Amino acid sequence: MITHHPSDFTLARLAAGTLGAGPQLVVATHLSGCPRCRRGLRSFWAVGGAMLDEAAPTRLSPDAFAQALRRLDETDPPAEPAARVLHPDLPPPLNAYEIGRWRFVPPGFRWRRLTLPESPDANVIMLKIAAGQPVPHHGHSGTEYTQVLTGSFTDSLGRYRAGDCIEMDEEVNHQPVVDQDGECVCLAAVEGRLRLSGWIGRLIQPLIGI
Ligand SMILES: [Zn+2]
Repeated sequence: MITHHPSDFTLARLAAGTLGAGPQLVVATHLSGCPRCRRGLRSFWAVGGAMLDEAAPTRLSPDAFAQALRRLDETDPPAEPAARVLHPDLPPPLNAYEIGRWRFVPPGFRWRRLTLPESPDANVIMLKIAAGQPVPHHGHSGTEYTQVLTGSFTDSLGRYRAGDCIEMDEEVNHQPVVDQDGECVCLAAVEGRLRLSGWIGRLIQPLIGI
């Protein structure tokens, strides 16, 4: 039951190859479990293809998102052998990436970093937060993309469950709290720089290095 999706603008940017590598991975993870957004992406591709027929082909860069498509759980047979699966418990777009060990920051908060060989500067982190625990307060200088992998959390705008994708721009002052019925694991990336505030943030900012 997915109720929060990436915006059409984000899907269009994914289709056009202009979404940053980190957010692209977060959105691809959402797409792997969301037929509605896969249909949306295909329609943007169709529009892009029509534009390519009529305009200068250099305006679009299909290579940037072809990679995301290959990782989707499509009904079509894969065009190439599946990548080595390192994390069978994670959605297909994530399971072949090197992921660092969980790092513990008390209280009730852990994080680990995903390494994208094709984009080493991308900042993608996985967060694991205990039930009832507030997500570390932070702001960001660009849009933040969060995909809920397991569990759920709530903020002033709604409740977010496994499969939901949340986009927050820098104007949103949100303080998410993990729901009481279990821990929550999320994948998060920002375009721009993540600014963590509060004591937890000051503690982990140097560790995460973003
Ligand atoms: Zn969706």
